[in-house]
Amino acid sequence: MTTITKTKTYLNYINGEWIVSESGETAESKNPANKDEVVGLYQLSSSKDFNQAATSARKAQKAWRKLAGNVRGDYLLKAAAILEERIEDIATAMTKEMGKTFAEAKGETARGVAILRYYAGEGMRPVGDVIPSTDSDALMFTTRVPLGVVGVITPWNFPVAIPMWKMAPALIYGNAVVIKPASETAITCAKVIECLHDAGIPAGVINMVTGSGSLIGTEMVNHPEIDAITFTGSNTVGKQLAQTAISRGIKYQLEMGGKNPVIVANDADLDLAVEATISGGLKSSGQKCTATSRVIVQQEVYDQFKEKLLEKVAAITVGDGMEEGTWMGPSASENQLNTVLSAIAKGKSEGANLLFGGEKVEKEGLNGYYVEPTVFENVSSTMTLAREEIFGPVLALMKVKTIEEALELANDSEYGLSASIFTTKISNMLSFINEMDAGLVRINAESAGVELQAPFGGMKQSSSHSREQGQAAKEFYTAIKTVFVK
Ligand code: NAP
Repeated sequence: MTTITKTKTYLNYINGEWIVSESGETAESKNPANKDEVVGLYQLSSSKDFNQAATSARKAQKAWRKLAGNVRGDYLLKAAAILEERIEDIATAMTKEMGKTFAEAKGETARGVAILRYYAGEGMRPVGDVIPSTDSDALMFTTRVPLGVVGVITPWNFPVAIPMWKMAPALIYGNAVVIKPASETAITCAKVIECLHDAGIPAGVINMVTGSGSLIGTEMVNHPEIDAITFTGSNTVGKQLAQTAISRGIKYQLEMGGKNPVIVANDADLDLAVEATISGGLKSSGQKCTATSRVIVQQEVYDQFKEKLLEKVAAITVGDGMEEGTWMGPSASENQLNTVLSAIAKGKSEGANLLFGGEKVEKEGLNGYYVEPTVFENVSSTMTLAREEIFGPVLALMKVKTIEEALELANDSEYGLSASIFTTKISNMLSFINEMDAGLVRINAESAGVELQAPFGGMKQSSSHSREQGQAAKEFYTAIKTVFVK
């Protein structure tokens, strides 16, 4: 008997309802761990869908901003409880859509819960300052007001955490939201939005429109009902969006790529440095904006570090993220796999020495976009391997004589997102903290990761220089008013 399973179709979420796109078109979300598996269908939306979402958001925001902060917070707390109940289901969708391991996907979804709870509390925290006036009969203070309707564009690599660390602060400070999630992870996003819907957030306050980035993203940044844009993704797209946002005079926030260095000093705990380099560089197949990619090691410990690193890399298990025992899943898509393979090919042709990996993983039972964890050495600062973001499981080892040389090399990048040093010497730590041009500077800790209550963002080409997460988010999602009363 043949079993026919119907592929589920996910809809747009507009004005509190699940709606089929006016275009009548859908696209398949596929499992990168199994080319034959369609996870579901999502809407290929049109400009009309977006317009409906933006106008609903504008209308709903007027009442939403008037609610007391704790009332908005209560909705976020309800959404957190629902998301927590659905961790397994949402993490399954995430692993199936973009390939990270189920354990990582569950961890990320739990992070989404914690973000909602953190920002629920923000509804009761101060938003302004009293400023002494030179007029003794007057009262002068600042307050903050919402921006209006915030357009949110997110990538596929953290399909719960990134939408959440944008939507939760937007909502708590009184904004309405229209989100356009990455197409690769549209279904994971729909499941997250369902939690917000089930928490009873009023119709129109949150809207989701899926579909082509160039069509819906362009529509979003140009739409008169959109008052601000927050974007995480590639530099190319981010810069395009910024140009339009500037010409329209709306607020924008960009979080983009990285080429994150790790420095291993000659006094480092080498086992710790090896563990952190592998975890920071190869987990999630290197598809993190904060992933370690350049590994700068002092010559005295270079050989020892390399030997320990290669031994651990050789033990990495690559496979379907849903299978227990898998440490590293596939690349998120065929496109992504090809980008990684072409970076590896360029590395070889430019003269770097391939120490490990470098090939597609093709073995019995695997039917996805798998690539081996890969390590190069003899990488010079001018090579593509040292300059361009790969977004894959590729480490580039570079040998240096001194810490000064290491710092100079670490800073020799157009990016400045995250950077780590492994050292036991306080003077090395201080030089690194003071001189490393990165938004996240980590000592004896892997380059990937930052706690949700701390500011997150990059320097140089990694960001538009505002910060996300924690209290820093208030700067973006609100406008300051200076009030003078006499
Ligand atoms: P991407 O291609 O720039 O896509 C990001 C988002 O933008 C997606 O929703 C995409 O939609 C949309 N988009 C595509 N073209 C657009 C256009 N012309 N106008 C408006 N929106 C458009 O990036 P990605 O490949 O998804 O993500 C990987 C990149 O994100 C890497 O560079 C990584 O470093 C960066 N990232 C940065 C951070 C950070 O916090 N700094 C965090 C995570 C990732 P479609 O999916 O429909 O194309």
